[in-house]
Amino acid sequence: MSSISPQILKKRKRHVLIALISIPSILLLFNLWGWSFYLQAKGFLDEELGKRLISIAAITSLQVSPELIKSIEERTIDDEQAFNFREYLATVNEENNLESVFIIDKEKNYILDAGYVHLEGEKYHCLNISDANRILDASLGKSSCSKLYRNGSQMFKTGFAPLKDASGEVIAILGVDASPEFLRALSNIQNTLIFFGIISLVLGVLYVLVLLAVINGFEAMFHAEKFASLGRLSAGMAHDIRNPLQIINTTYESLRKRHLPQDIEDEMFDYIPDEIKNLNKKINDFLSQTKDTPLKIKLNNLKVLLNHIIDRMSPDMERATIRFNNHIEPKINEFYFDAQQMEGVFQNLIRNAIEAMPDGGVITIKAYPYKGGKQFVAIEIADTGHGINKRDQKKLFEPFFTTKEHGYGLGMSIVFRIIQKHGGEIKVKSRPNQGTTFTILLPWKQEG
Ligand code: ADP
Ligand code: MG
Repeated sequence: MSSISPQILKKRKRHVLIALISIPSILLLFNLWGWSFYLQAKGFLDEELGKRLISIAAITSLQVSPELIKSIEERTIDDEQAFNFREYLATVNEENNLESVFIIDKEKNYILDAGYVHLEGEKYHCLNISDANRILDASLGKSSCSKLYRNGSQMFKTGFAPLKDASGEVIAILGVDASPEFLRALSNIQNTLIFFGIISLVLGVLYVLVLLAVINGFEAMFHAEKFASLGRLSAGMAHDIRNPLQIINTTYESLRKRHLPQDIEDEMFDYIPDEIKNLNKKINDFLSQTKDTPLKIKLNNLKVLLNHIIDRMSPDMERATIRFNNHIEPKINEFYFDAQQMEGVFQNLIRNAIEAMPDGGVITIKAYPYKGGKQFVAIEIADTGHGINKRDQKKLFEPFFTTKEHGYGLGMSIVFRIIQKHGGEIKVKSRPNQGTTFTILLPWKQEG
């Protein structure tokens, strides 16, 4: 048994709770900081690249005369002129590290693509709305650029500049497409951030699950420790009461010998040994409940045990006008548990259920294989009594917690301890004025 004091356990629980909140918060802050840095850097680079593309498009557009555009559209351009123009656009492309330079008409059909990727007359595909809006800007005479957009694994940005005739009317649009190296870096940073986000999420969830398990462990230790203190306290009390009782008994025998002849009966004298016996029995009962006896695990039949308990308690139930339902799935026959201690568990739970229904009601017991993946038997004990409010549910398994005028508040702590020793769990669901259901999960050990 652990000897950690409840205060230290409470303190540790508080520390674990602080860790539980702080580590995921740090992970979250770290991720948020990463994303805000990424968005700021992206915004800045996007803006700078935009300015550069607009100026390249605008400067290049100054070198393109409206006659040239007309001659290309009307296919009257001679080969040398065409070659020179393409060479010029190719140089702009190369010197500015662009992906492509192209000219489209106001209906967004290609007039020329310096990289020969698109044919004349082919439709220019806007990759997003922003792109389409910027083309509209350009067709209204204003240089502009698209937002950053993704095409496959690469990120792009396009600058547009209007090509105008002598009267200032827009006759075509010149576009410059760029996918510089740093955009690849941005894309990598984004992928890394997504990766870290997923890893943080998985780690955060695992971490919370582990800490919750640790907190549950503390809770179990906390109850175990309280129960052990209770055992020590009652053993000490029993010893202190039994000693004077022993003295009273011997004194009684001496007094009787001295003052009462052997053959004479005196009722008054008999009260003393009777009451001593009575007191001793009460002490033994109390001790047997609070003593943390090791389990004697054997192959036992749950149905037989429950039927035996119900038989013994049925007079109490009849008196309290309580009906009883019982359903134990046939699959659950014999498995390993301590029948004597589990009898104590069921008796405590059924007694509490009876006491929770002073005007009668129904007790239902069910046993079935647990459906949560573990090899457990689930045993439900439900009543239609006055229920337990949320605040009391938290204290339910603490020794000496009682809401009854003549209660000791020991039953539920004993129940908790016995189930804990079996490696099981007990859960409670309750609604005030509707009833309470206790669900016990016991390891379903069918082999020794
Ligand atoms: P006691 O029965 O001596 O009060 P227990 O440890 O058996 O001590 O129960 C502690 C408290 O839990 C009870 O006083 C009662 O408030 C509550 N309780 C336990 N079982 C039930 C139940 N089935 N319905 C309503 N309250 C319950
Ligand atoms: Mg009780």
